[in-house]
Amino acid sequence: MKTPILPVLLVAGVAALPGCAARHPAATAPPSAATSASGGAAAALGPAALAAWWDAHHVALPPAPLVTYDDMVAAAARAVDADAGRVAREVVGRSVEGRDLLHLTVGRGPTHVLLWSQMHGDEPSATPAIFDLLEWIRRERGTAAVQRLEDRLTVHLVPMLNPDGAQRFIRRNAQGIDINRDALHLQTPEGRALKALRDRLQPVLGFNLHNQNGQTSAGSPPKPATISLLAVAHDAARSDSPRRTMAKQTAALVREALEPLIPGQVGRYSDEFEVRAFGDNLGRWGTAVVLIESGPVSGADADQVLVRLNFVALVTALDGLASGRTAAHPTAAYDTLPVNESNLLSIRIRNATIASGTGVAPFVGDIGVNTSRALARGDGPRRLQVASRIADLGDLRVFGALEDVDATGLTATPAFDDAAREGDLVRMPDWSAWQGATIAVGQPGALFLLAPVSTAAPTTSATASPLSESWRLVRRVQPGVTRP
Ligand SMILES: [Zn+2]
Repeated sequence: MKTPILPVLLVAGVAALPGCAARHPAATAPPSAATSASGGAAAALGPAALAAWWDAHHVALPPAPLVTYDDMVAAAARAVDADAGRVAREVVGRSVEGRDLLHLTVGRGPTHVLLWSQMHGDEPSATPAIFDLLEWIRRERGTAAVQRLEDRLTVHLVPMLNPDGAQRFIRRNAQGIDINRDALHLQTPEGRALKALRDRLQPVLGFNLHNQNGQTSAGSPPKPATISLLAVAHDAARSDSPRRTMAKQTAALVREALEPLIPGQVGRYSDEFEVRAFGDNLGRWGTAVVLIESGPVSGADADQVLVRLNFVALVTALDGLASGRTAAHPTAAYDTLPVNESNLLSIRIRNATIASGTGVAPFVGDIGVNTSRALARGDGPRRLQVASRIADLGDLRVFGALEDVDATGLTATPAFDDAAREGDLVRMPDWSAWQGATIAVGQPGALFLLAPVSTAAPTTSATASPLSESWRLVRRVQPGVTRP
């Protein structure tokens, strides 16, 4: 929530996708998921069952970053129509550019809960999950789980609080203000709408739904911090209070639900008090807040994986409140979360002989590449483009990576030939006259991995003269281009 960079999702993945229901039988669900209600309803609330439910029934929307304001409005209308009389819709304000800010309500219970997503326009993963939650409530009505949820809770949902930023896929609103630094000044109409809604509803618990930096890692050795949680502090001393304890208990339940789906990939967001942020001030105003940050995960369908994880987290958290489990739950699973660090690379090329193009002699080392995404400019359908840059160079063993490439015996160079394809024979340019990108921190992450053709032995010699050899292009590292 405090950094503008997106999770990195479009790199080619080598790791197995988390969240695959088939790989996580219901038996791996934490015991807490099966302690209440009827056996059937309890089984359906385990993380594997919820993930499988999502696979079968989630609302059809584009990948989260491509969901437009109009898509969101249409999804809200469908949710209201499909569940007539159960889901209410009101407009609680307008964005700077005049887009309606929607507030959807479901349930009739005395305990009010407020969820808002995409306060940062380029942090979209929770927005589709809000509609999946409504769909789950509609389809599973009649189960004990939904009955108690609707009887005991009133759930308030604000999807896409920053529609102007979402249209541009940028963090800030159309004034250029970070809404999440406007809780005190209230100069943004979006922030004012959220504050007014909180004051009117007096929810006991809020869910502040964001995406975090794609370099965010958890644990050692570092793994992607695919979801990070925070029971938001409401003062600089980070005091505990019954409200904050409830937020920690909620976060503990969520961690236990997510851990079987993404083992070791749940982190804890920094609990430093940010005096201007909404989460922190909602705590001060009387509403405990759980922050859920979606982060990096490998795989071509990473965007969908994050929506599914958000769905599992939200159903788990709401059922914990409705069933009474939250109030009795220990906070240990929250207290022991590994704290977020920034030790993740998008791609790590290991042990390459690096011909950097800068004129220095080749040397052996690792290359770390990070990527970020933005909306592609121009007409036509909304689409994303991926930018990459070299983030680090040398001995990068202490980092984690979404994709690791073993380049032992291969020579890494800048991508020097746009037309060359993997398998082609290429000749290296004369680096002394080279004008293009080099392998250096800050340079583009487009690289070649080459094998010498003239010898079967790997070329690790710093004295080899690349100019005189022919090379085969073994791998084109081109972040953003999906490999088959
Ligand atoms: Zn954010």
